[in-house]
Amino acid sequence: MNNHDVPPSRQLQQIDLAADLVVVGGGMAGVCAAIAAARNGASVVLVQDRSVLGGNASREIRMHIVGADSHGHKPGARETGLIEELRLEDAVRNPHRSYALWDLLLYEKVKAESNITLLLDTTCVSAEVEEMTDGSRHIRAVHAVRHSTEDQFRIVAPFFADCSGDGRLGLEAGADCTEGREARASYGEEYAPEKADNARLGSSIMFMAREYPTAQRFIAPDWIRKFSRSDFKGHRDVFSYEYGYWWFEWGGHLDTVKDNEKIRHELLRIALGVWDYVKNSGDHPGAVNYALDWVAPISGKRESRRFLGRHVLTGQDIFNPNARPDGVAYGGWPIDLHPIEGVDAPEKPACVHHGFPHLYSIPYGCYCSRNVENLFFAGRNISATHVAFGSTRVMATCAIGGQAVGTAAALLTARHATSTAAFANPEGWKTLQQCLAKDDAFVPGVINEDTGDLAKSARLSASSQSPETPAAAVADGLTRNLRGTWGPWSADATHLWKSATLPATLRLELPSPTPLSEIHITFDTGLERELMLSGSDKATAKIVRGPQPETAQHYRVMVNGKLLVEETFNYLRKRVHPVHSSEPVRVVELEILSTHGVPEARVFDVRLLAREKL
Ligand SMILES: Cc1cc2nc3c(=O)[nH]c(=O)nc-3n(C[C@H](O)[C@H](O)[C@H](O)COP(=O)(O)OP(=O)(O)OC[C@H]3O[C@@H](n4cnc5c(N)ncnc54)[C@H](O)[C@@H]3O)c2cc1C
Repeated sequence: MNNHDVPPSRQLQQIDLAADLVVVGGGMAGVCAAIAAARNGASVVLVQDRSVLGGNASREIRMHIVGADSHGHKPGARETGLIEELRLEDAVRNPHRSYALWDLLLYEKVKAESNITLLLDTTCVSAEVEEMTDGSRHIRAVHAVRHSTEDQFRIVAPFFADCSGDGRLGLEAGADCTEGREARASYGEEYAPEKADNARLGSSIMFMAREYPTAQRFIAPDWIRKFSRSDFKGHRDVFSYEYGYWWFEWGGHLDTVKDNEKIRHELLRIALGVWDYVKNSGDHPGAVNYALDWVAPISGKRESRRFLGRHVLTGQDIFNPNARPDGVAYGGWPIDLHPIEGVDAPEKPACVHHGFPHLYSIPYGCYCSRNVENLFFAGRNISATHVAFGSTRVMATCAIGGQAVGTAAALLTARHATSTAAFANPEGWKTLQQCLAKDDAFVPGVINEDTGDLAKSARLSASSQSPETPAAAVADGLTRNLRGTWGPWSADATHLWKSATLPATLRLELPSPTPLSEIHITFDTGLERELMLSGSDKATAKIVRGPQPETAQHYRVMVNGKLLVEETFNYLRKRVHPVHSSEPVRVVELEILSTHGVPEARVFDVRLLAREKL
């Protein structure tokens, strides 16, 4: 043994696990990947190195989840699927905006899936990798350690997903990756620097403050930074005191993995220094009754490694408004680039947004390693240039990418595939897109083509309708209103049945009686409005923290005139009701008795799934 060899621990107990998919990292990408895979039939081990789920959105860091609707600037573009389910649940069950309740909701959703084994406080530390004769690599197992229980895990699986942000699994597996900023000429990106460098977006530490009935002092410790009024310009506004501030950013010139401890300390100095300015400079008399309530214990990290996939998403891809045939997710957030010096360069704006009116597709290839055949990635580490990452890194975009990855892994496992390449073709993209559409995840240009959906052949009628919002809209294959600005694949059109009054009934009559397995209903949940959990009072003022007013609250589903299900307090967008009887079905009726606000019924979609013949 040489001086650097570490003797193996005699205390850690070896535990062997097996699954269809191992997800490393329980941020928004990892949580959605794990749930999507489990709901589509795969067994999953989710390995998360901290005690709570949610990553940068957890109570530890408290960033609000934004996405393609760009803080409401692209109304209607809000992500659906799993992230919508989570946001709707949170708005109803957590109207008072507790971040602890938010990450407990993620915990509850993961624990509710019997297919998921959740390993909290467990760090993935290495991978067993087989090198193939063609130079590609195949992960056999990952190794993970949980010190709190003195356990070490070896987990074998056919597929793995690195959703760890920093990319530890991919690194251990030898997946090709990159860091820093590409040169402008490398991918023809207007917003890239002339020369490549190692600079990244910096990290930030958030804080929250509370208002008290009386004046509160802040006694500044002597180890903090000092700020003056001239530091607060270029989007570095102190506009309120309860939640601050994403822009005190630092460390982009350092290695955000290796230098993370140094970065955290400097960010704590900066966070307390900014609060000292707010409380003690005299420039903010409105802050007199405010006191710090919480300061993040760890840095919120924006950028570290990015993997190289079968496709590298570039700024050119983002500015292309056409829907791609291989798209499995989408984005819309502007390319949001920050100066690497962060608060050290107050003369530079804290961020520059390069906007565009459309939505862009994110291809399947961005989520698949180019040299490790059974490795997916999702989240901020996907295959994208630094410029493209400026848009893809927002958490709702990470979440829908996670859903696509989890769904792909489940479908591939069911086919006994061993490589992500099995779906890297038109048939594979289409299979994945259709499954995502069934699970309410929107992909630009994709409409429901499920041949097992009998709603498309049903005769549709309603107690009332209008020419713009007819009953037939529930079977047109689209589950949201589209806007022409989103790209040539889109057009200003509603895809919604809307009644004139309540109660209202929608009737679907099948051409011939057929046994059904499931009835899917997609309600309106106000996608035109932003929906998120935020510590900011100003951001929250636009948000309904409760059931969304457009949504049906009390409804009944009748099959052949008999009650199948009655829901008295619905607030979700997508509902799936199993039909247990194998009796042939002629007529399905959806009766909506009340909503959470609007005076009419609103339904985007109904699917009547035929029972498969045995
Ligand atoms: C200050 C700041 C402000 C931001 N503002 C916004 C915003 O307003 N809205 C928005 O949507 N996005 C924002 N972002 C971007 C966004 O937060 C990130 O891009 C996003 O968190 C990426 O999600 P993720 O799931 O890929 O990674 P993360 O959220 O980083 O989650 C990864 C998880 O993996 C775990 N992990 C890491 N290594 C291992 C390992 N070896 N084993 C097991 N687990 C591991 C980590 O603990 C973490 O929980 C901001 C980021 C920062 C830092």
